Amino acid sequence: MKILVQKFGGTSVATQERRELVVDKIENAVKNGFFPVVVVSAIGRNGDPYATDTFISFANSVGVKSNPREMDMIMSCGEIISSVVLSNTLKKRGYDSMVLTGGQAGIITDESFGDAEVLRVEPQFISDCMEKNIIPVIAGFQGKSENGEITTLGRGGSDVTGAIMGEALNAEAVEIYTDVEGIMTADPRIVPDAMVMDTIYYNEVFQMAEYGSKVIHPRAVEVAMRSNLPLLIKNTMTDCAGTLITNCDKNRNYRYDKSNKILTAIAHVSGRVRVRIIFDGSAGEFENDDQLFEAIASEGISIDMINVNPDFKLFIIDEAYIGNLEKVLGRYEYNYELKTNCSKVTIIGNKMRGVPGVMSKTISALARQNIEVLQTSDSHTTISCLIDSAYTNAAVNALHQEFELGKASK
Ligand code: ADP
Ligand code: MG
Repeated sequence: MKILVQKFGGTSVATQERRELVVDKIENAVKNGFFPVVVVSAIGRNGDPYATDTFISFANSVGVKSNPREMDMIMSCGEIISSVVLSNTLKKRGYDSMVLTGGQAGIITDESFGDAEVLRVEPQFISDCMEKNIIPVIAGFQGKSENGEITTLGRGGSDVTGAIMGEALNAEAVEIYTDVEGIMTADPRIVPDAMVMDTIYYNEVFQMAEYGSKVIHPRAVEVAMRSNLPLLIKNTMTDCAGTLITNCDKNRNYRYDKSNKILTAIAHVSGRVRVRIIFDGSAGEFENDDQLFEAIASEGISIDMINVNPDFKLFIIDEAYIGNLEKVLGRYEYNYELKTNCSKVTIIGNKMRGVPGVMSKTISALARQNIEVLQTSDSHTTISCLIDSAYTNAAVNALHQEFELGKASK
């Protein structure tokens, strides 16, 4: 029997009314001859009683944060609650269903609590469910280690659960249900003119996710890409076709994109800090690139948009790491400057490879809005600009318009 993995995000399972819509989607899969394997996220968003952020806030308030192992135990509860609730909704509608934690679903991870990596899947439980025609509802975002420890897969990790189960079960596809119609040319919360895409290549959506589009977890795209597993992003609340993430056409041949648009999408991420470390002798014998970057790495700080000059080093970090960074830089008495409240806006498109003028168009579109570009970085298929966060919306909208990505330009 053909397997269809269906993952439902936090807003999709937030109310009983929506959970009934979720059951409709599962029912459709059954009617279309699939065996559905369901994955759910925790119910709702921060402030909702059983949301992951609510558990994190509570844990912090009672001092659990310093213990990553226990933090994972608390964080895994939201998805377990959600899967029990959804499984019961399925049963009320006449379907046999069984709840499984990530560990029971056979997801074996390493022990990097909070951001565990999946090592393999042992889907025996799921196969048993299939034989007995019982619909499994798996708690997303979690697994277990070889030693039986409960682990979580990082924020947005239920997408990874969906993709990894799809791969392990050799599913026909993985459907990711959320609160938008599909992958859009930019975040619809800030670009009203953003358009839904019918299809998109794995590497483009991977870059979107890496550069800040929260619509899907980058690792889920990576898993799907390595096994050529089609991913579908759909809206729980509507019957729209959604976006198909694939490199193939219907005949499984490589899909050639006929559109003449250079760009595919624009992503953004805020909460960045620009760091400028000045080599003026203040750090004495420690003042060399080797020791500086080694010291930063040893604090677990990831850096980006790196620009190394003999006299200064520029890079950006997530603002969550300011404290750790200042600790390192202070220890060696480096002279440095921080610029907080920055955003990174990235234009993405496979077709920009080798096309002249993309940078100049980007810079002039931002200049027309009086947005100063603090720093840039690029690859064959992306250009990122660092700007003051106050201009994030203006920048994303300006670039969206400049590269004619919106409905208005159709
Ligand atoms: P879920 O809880 O279902 O996983 P998420 O909040 O993680 O939902 O992802 C859906 C959200 O992603 C949307 O509400 C939308 O605001 C945001 N988003 C950001 N960039 C994009 C984009 N390019 N296309 C679609 N949605 C996007
Ligand atoms: Mg999500």
